[in-house]
Amino acid sequence: MKHYALKNGDQMPALGLGTWKSTPGEVYDAVRTALQIGYRHFDCAFLYDNEKEVGQALKDAITAGEVTRKDLWITSKVWNTHHRTEDVIVALKHTLADLQLAYLDLYLVHWPVAQKKSVLFPSGPEDLISDQDISLEDTWSGMEECFLAGLTKHIGVSNFNQKKIKRVNQSAKIKIEVLQVESHPYLQQQPLLDFCQQHNIIYTAFGPLGSLTTAIKSGDHNVPYLSEHPTLLAIAQSHQASYAQILIAWAIQRGTSVIPKSVNPSRLQENFEASQIELTTEEMKQLSELDCHYRYVDGHLFTFEGSPFTAKKLWDE
Ligand code: NDP
Repeated sequence: MKHYALKNGDQMPALGLGTWKSTPGEVYDAVRTALQIGYRHFDCAFLYDNEKEVGQALKDAITAGEVTRKDLWITSKVWNTHHRTEDVIVALKHTLADLQLAYLDLYLVHWPVAQKKSVLFPSGPEDLISDQDISLEDTWSGMEECFLAGLTKHIGVSNFNQKKIKRVNQSAKIKIEVLQVESHPYLQQQPLLDFCQQHNIIYTAFGPLGSLTTAIKSGDHNVPYLSEHPTLLAIAQSHQASYAQILIAWAIQRGTSVIPKSVNPSRLQENFEASQIELTTEEMKQLSELDCHYRYVDGHLFTFEGSPFTAKKLWDE
């Protein structure tokens, strides 16, 4: 398994397991199975509402002697309700209690969006808090506090663009080490990846399979289904692999870490084995030509009329 080195020498496994939409009742088995297959990197978040069950699975595997804490890379994310400097560490302690862990390997700011504490998802502009009132720098100070308290080994951001990363890093005592963003052949974000590689920021690709569930749930027939693209299917056929395996191999080969979600044992196995596939230069080129800058996870939950977070502000400013 390929790993990416962080500044202090820690190693992040290139392939991890996503846990969004893995419901309590299924995520325990998924994590135990994944550990048995060989996964060591798990991507979690307070928002996924399943950290208790993920934590139980990790604890039981450690108790059973199948794995040690040191072998694992565990990521979680602070939700928008805890962006005030002093609230970030409160959120992290809650997550650590749920995961039954003493520390995380990586804590991320989930979105560059602040919300009132009383709501999980905003239903109107009054539920959102503008950057003037809680700035990204305020939130980052809270992240630094978490790092300095030894509660997380690394800190980073998610759904940030280049401008926001530069802005936060300008005043940061501890720089952003990881960026997690949506990434697949339809949304390659190559300039952002180049920027990350130039600045020693590890780029993690979420929704690497085209975030299938989001596409299906949207019910919008204009949503492009990455899994049906003939170029992708032809490459898969020539490797006797699945389209998902090609997407995972592509992500790793272009230098990103990647966190496909599955709760299905055979797909967990299939996705793990994808890290062995080597694509040719020509195949990488063919896949790179599919970019249509299509976001499945477009942040529309935060960009409704009257919101201080317009789509332009979110993605371009
Ligand atoms: P993915 O692109 O990983 O797609 C997951 C879907 O694909 C599920 O429906 C899964 O179903 C299915 N699937 C998995 N493996 C295969 C396979 N081999 N063949 C066919 N279908 C397959 O989407 P996600 O949106 O879940 O992204 C992955 C992870 O990234 C999340 O779980 C989360 O951890 C993270 N994420 C982070 C975000 C952020 O804002 N930071 C936003 C979105 C995701 P099944 O389980 O039945 O196999």
